[in-house]
Amino acid sequence: MDISVVVPLYNEEESLPELTEWIVRVMNENGFTYEIIFVNDGSTDSSASVIKRMAETNPAIHGISFSRNYGKSPALNTGFARAKGDVVITMDADLQDSPDEIPELFRMITQEGYDLVSGWKKKRYDPLSKTIPTKLFNATARRVSGIKNLHDFNCGLKAYRNEVVKHIEVYGDMHRYIPYLAKNAGYRKIGEKVVHHQARKYGKTKFGLDRFVNGYLDLATLWFQSKFGIKPMHIFGLLGSLMFIIGFIAVFVVLLLKIIAMCSHGFHFWVTKSVYFYLSLVFMVLGVQFFCTGFIGELITRNSTERNNYLIAEEF
Ligand code: UDP
Ligand code: MG
Repeated sequence: MDISVVVPLYNEEESLPELTEWIVRVMNENGFTYEIIFVNDGSTDSSASVIKRMAETNPAIHGISFSRNYGKSPALNTGFARAKGDVVITMDADLQDSPDEIPELFRMITQEGYDLVSGWKKKRYDPLSKTIPTKLFNATARRVSGIKNLHDFNCGLKAYRNEVVKHIEVYGDMHRYIPYLAKNAGYRKIGEKVVHHQARKYGKTKFGLDRFVNGYLDLATLWFQSKFGIKPMHIFGLLGSLMFIIGFIAVFVVLLLKIIAMCSHGFHFWVTKSVYFYLSLVFMVLGVQFFCTGFIGELITRNSTERNNYLIAEEF
């Protein structure tokens, strides 16, 4: 099978028939063998029955319904697990992404050898309240992830080599950082294609302003995981040791001053009135805490099933 199209959706009943018809038309015109996997993320409208009806008339259409709304990432992850096509294409259900991009995305994966191609909504049809924070968000994501050539991390329209989607786990709200997840999994040939974008035709956006707060927190998590995920002691141990040393030096200063004071007559020194006393307390306690955190982190990674998962590129 050439292509699996994975569509996560939440309350998109109006868009589904039009979207499906469009995808099927593009597939037939280009002679692709395909499947469309609709992952219904706990919709409360009639999306499920719309998909069911379409699946009855076209055997290439499949539907999976969650029992409740889990989020876009879980929906994508579930779709990825089922995808059989050589190339997996994800797109939003709201008709903002154009199925006409599919042939070129397919070509970039199969002929130009990309692992992942992300759409770039160069000209966006979304309100300013969304486009401006998005620019900032993408700039940060580029820096932190080190994927310098991507302008639009969170575009719903993306294409993957099948192997890639089987080796990444999209959870929480991590769908915003799939290129980063792919890079961390060892897939480095990540490309971009300018794609046509449209204003939402039916329904309304499913993400509010909290996306930006959560987006940044998720980015911090991913950065930390990729840097220290399998060696937490390297950061916590280092910080802990540094703090402990600072605390220890402060103790030494306090002791020294006290001894000098005891030996001389005119000089009085109150240990509890000295700034070094407090510095030594804070730094030694914090240092030990950091150190222990690192140690616990090591014990956790030791028990993780992921600890020895390496992606082998080639065997000779
Ligand atoms: N979506 C989903 N689960 C959710 C929220 C959204 O499956 O909890 C789907 C939604 O139906 C759409 C896609 O994710 O197909 C993108 O959502 P939306 O268009 O609301 O995001 P925006 O374009 O505003 O960034
Ligand atoms: Mg949308």
